[in-house]
Amino acid sequence: MPLIILTGLPTSGKTTRAKQLHAYLSSRITPSSSSSSPPPPPNSNPNTNPTVAPQIQPPKYSLHLISDTTLSIPRSVYDLSPENLPAHVRSANASEKDARAAVYAAVKRVLSPRDIVILDGLNYIKGWRYQLFCEAKNVSTPSCVVQVGCTVERARAVNERRLQRRREGSGGRRRVEGRDGEADVVKDGEGPEEGNDGKVREEEEDNDEEEPYEPSNWENVVFRYEEPNPMTRWDSPLFTLVWEDDEAQTRAVFDKIWDTIAGEGRKTVKPNQ
Ligand code: ADP
Ligand code: MG
Repeated sequence: MPLIILTGLPTSGKTTRAKQLHAYLSSRITPSSSSSSPPPPPNSNPNTNPTVAPQIQPPKYSLHLISDTTLSIPRSVYDLSPENLPAHVRSANASEKDARAAVYAAVKRVLSPRDIVILDGLNYIKGWRYQLFCEAKNVSTPSCVVQVGCTVERARAVNERRLQRRREGSGGRRRVEGRDGEADVVKDGEGPEEGNDGKVREEEEDNDEEEPYEPSNWENVVFRYEEPNPMTRWDSPLFTLVWEDDEAQTRAVFDKIWDTIAGEGRKTVKPNQ
């Protein structure tokens, strides 16, 4: 497709969902064996009988994941606080405009009806989402928006934990050898986040290497955030995933996204519509 625009508050779980969606779509577009050839006899050896070798079909789609991280765009581009702006910055949000130009170019480079692009980012300005919607239309491919929902308090807590980890340098946790020789994870300071099932997500915490936002920057982006509106063309179809959504619910939403972008629900998009 098709362009899949993720949006949500800072540190609300967008990258986590983008990676899950990437894994899901990868499995859907993986080449499958052709069913047109008859099934091989039970004891046949495909190495000696070429007629029974499965025919691999080329994938119908290529998949791309684009984010601030993949483009090396720092969090500071969203920072409008005057005390944090370097003197040479022309206008308050010049760096954010430059960052958007880089994202736009990266999307434009690959987007086509046969290239699925997952755009993981804040995408919090409706005018920007409109611009992306128009770009998809220009190349006659559908687009959709996935809102990653999370309470402001929870998202803020994630950023604070990242700030804490940065202050502590090594990630705020130590790996220690247990008596049985297995490495135990010990976290300094606050207890780790609980998952949907109430279990501690040690692994996810361990792999979290994302940079935090400066607190004033974080608060400011939340203040400026423009919620997607499914009544507008550029924010629809709109899919929502919230923090608490478990694997089954997440999969159900991903199935719907797949249907919209590649399945029977896919609409033909004409550039001049
Ligand atoms: P964003 O990309 O919006 O900044 P991330 O995807 O990096 O947010 O997530 C921030 C943190 O929250 C990570 O440590 C991640 O493991 C955790 N997290 C994200 N979504 C969930 C979820 N649905 N359930 C539990 N933990 C989550
Ligand atoms: Mg992210």
